[in-house]
Amino acid sequence: FPIIRAQSSPDFVPDAHFYKVEAILRPWRIQQVSSALLKMGIRGVTVSDVRGFGAQGGLTERQAGSEFSEDKFVAKVKMEIVVSKDQVEGVIAKIIEEARTGEIGDGKIFLIPISDVIRVRTGERGEKAERMVGGHADMSSALSTS
Ligand code: ATP
Ligand code: GLN
Repeated sequence: FPIIRAQSSPDFVPDAHFYKVEAILRPWRIQQVSSALLKMGIRGVTVSDVRGFGAQGGLTERQAGSEFSEDKFVAKVKMEIVVSKDQVEGVIAKIIEEARTGEIGDGKIFLIPISDVIRVRTGERGEKAERMVGGHADMSSALSTS
């Protein structure tokens, strides 16, 4: 059997300056998650209404029969948050804290390395484009200089 090690940091993903935290969550928890993220200085967030199939859908499916049918997809919200590498674990921990019920269907988080960020208004790239005025990095540096 292969040895499976629990991973608590994204050491195994390709190294990048920025990552996208993509979380598929329960729609009725989104308000709570986004206000907690905003409180920690995460201001750039994209959400979409999606429909998905996981263990939760699978349970329904097994009860309903063998055929995988489209009406078994469950309504979810996809949250996409691009942050700098040092903010990834904090964002993931916050999402889990606010989104978890402990029941099947709480969702899943995917971590995706991002090659670059470009701000359309200014043409800025990289760190300049990813940083947001009054955002998490500004909040942290204000704390450490005062
Ligand atoms: P500007 O200073 O020109 O307003 P901005 O960086 O604040 O630039 P917006 O143009 O306000 O970016 O962002 C447009 C949309 O892009 C947002 O509504 C949001 O959906 C998405 N977005 C921006 N930043 C992020 C991010 N870091 N992660 C995920 N989505 C983001
Ligand atoms: N990393 C950015 C900052 O610290 C915030 C990114 C975001 O809000 N998604 O300013």
